Amino acid sequence: ENNELKKIIAHAKEYGFVYPSSEIYDGLQAVYDYGAYGSELKKNLKDLWWQTMTKLNQNVVGIDAAIFMHPLTWKASGHVDSFTDPLIDNKDSNKRYRADVLVEDKAAEYENAGDKERADALLKKLGQLLEAEELEAVRELIIEEEIACPISGTTNWTEVRQFNLMFDTQVGAVAEDSSKIYLRPETAQGIFVNFLNVQKTARQKIPFGIAQIGKAFRNEIVARQFIFRMREFEQMEMQFFVRPGEEMKWYEHWKETRLKWHKAIGLPAEDLRFHDHEKLAHYANAATDIEYKFPFGFKEVEGIHSRTDFDLTQHQELSKKKLQYFDTEINKNYIPYVVETSIGADRLFLMVLSNSFTEEEVQDGEKVKTRTYLKLHPAIAPVKAAVFPLIKKNGLPEKAKEIFDDLRYDFNMIYEENQAIGKRYVRQDLIGTPFCIAVDFQTLEDNTVTVRHRDTTEQLRMPISDLRAYIGKEVSF
Ligand code: ATP
Repeated sequence: ENNELKKIIAHAKEYGFVYPSSEIYDGLQAVYDYGAYGSELKKNLKDLWWQTMTKLNQNVVGIDAAIFMHPLTWKASGHVDSFTDPLIDNKDSNKRYRADVLVEDKAAEYENAGDKERADALLKKLGQLLEAEELEAVRELIIEEEIACPISGTTNWTEVRQFNLMFDTQVGAVAEDSSKIYLRPETAQGIFVNFLNVQKTARQKIPFGIAQIGKAFRNEIVARQFIFRMREFEQMEMQFFVRPGEEMKWYEHWKETRLKWHKAIGLPAEDLRFHDHEKLAHYANAATDIEYKFPFGFKEVEGIHSRTDFDLTQHQELSKKKLQYFDTEINKNYIPYVVETSIGADRLFLMVLSNSFTEEEVQDGEKVKTRTYLKLHPAIAPVKAAVFPLIKKNGLPEKAKEIFDDLRYDFNMIYEENQAIGKRYVRQDLIGTPFCIAVDFQTLEDNTVTVRHRDTTEQLRMPISDLRAYIGKEVSF
């Protein structure tokens, strides 16, 4: 892990954003818990996504499907047969790796050393071998490239084999009655199997979309880069059902719409890019990723895929239920095509946290020191404003509490009266609170307060009666 990422991980833990799961038992790999401010930030991100999907689009409605689904769902979707990663073990260290990631890392090494051509050639070869399922040749490639295990340092590798990423468990108390079911590896299938239920009951006409936020589980082999790749995570997906032949128009529409959304929540255009897929999954006829420049390089945050009628056709076949839509405008029955947008809430969180983490050199008397703060858009900041009495006596706490009590039903607020006020400001900077309201002696005379801005540290004097409207305007989009 590079330094920048290390700092972010340490900050997230220290200031109540993200902790390793079951930390007292030394943690559980690739599983994380969100703390006081992390859970607020994550909730704000999810709410914002939900609202932009369902409220701003009249033809997108929500759904909340179960994590467990009928096992045939995953047969139909292709996950039982092909939701796999190629694995390889090092015989000396007994460590397990993803064969494709070993090769990708090697390619990155070439690229970093300035040999982009060699990197591209290697990636191309890997892609071809994986597509043709030539696993033995992937192993040969690893040996040819002298890729050594980082632990043992040897190139003594086992064969490459496919490993399914789905977690399974048993339902039913008695062994004979029980049957294997899976923890969903994506939320999308809950939408596909409910497509007609929702279309009819929410009285939707094509084109329309169904949005969902929920947990997904993948037994990821390479679990690294903090909450970028987790075994339990949350997805926010929207499947948009369209008339066959019109999918490209909608694919372009959602590509642009989603990129705009990322910019609106404060991510700089130069740190975002599309990565169009050349090699398409069997079910897709167009696909792109929105990538963000993480501390460890440009990586996928969101996928936008034109999935054709693959999923609905598969479900129709296995369930033997018609999954067709009658389009009254053209008097035709058809299985709709689907354009989806799929983003991980945790990955979005990491992107927003990385982007907001700011260290600035500031002059403090004679010394230069580093000021650290989270430059979060006020609309997603976990705490919107903190209220401080300048000192803990002479009626200032009472006045400050009055303001706090008046605003706390509208905004997530903090009241703090201990320590020097400078320290209290610093603490709010560290969790990204955009405004600090200070109550001083002048407040008792004229009912005005100072409002300190996190990013500039500038203070504005304003009447208490203006606070609600002022903060309200700043924390909305
Ligand atoms: P990757 O190539 O990084 O494994 P993917 O292409 O398999 O991702 P999708 O199946 O398209 O990802 O899932 C959609 C989104 O879900 C991703 O863009 C990402 O934001 C999120 N996501 C997928 N896997 C994980 C994971 N293990 N941990 C956290 N988020 C994930």
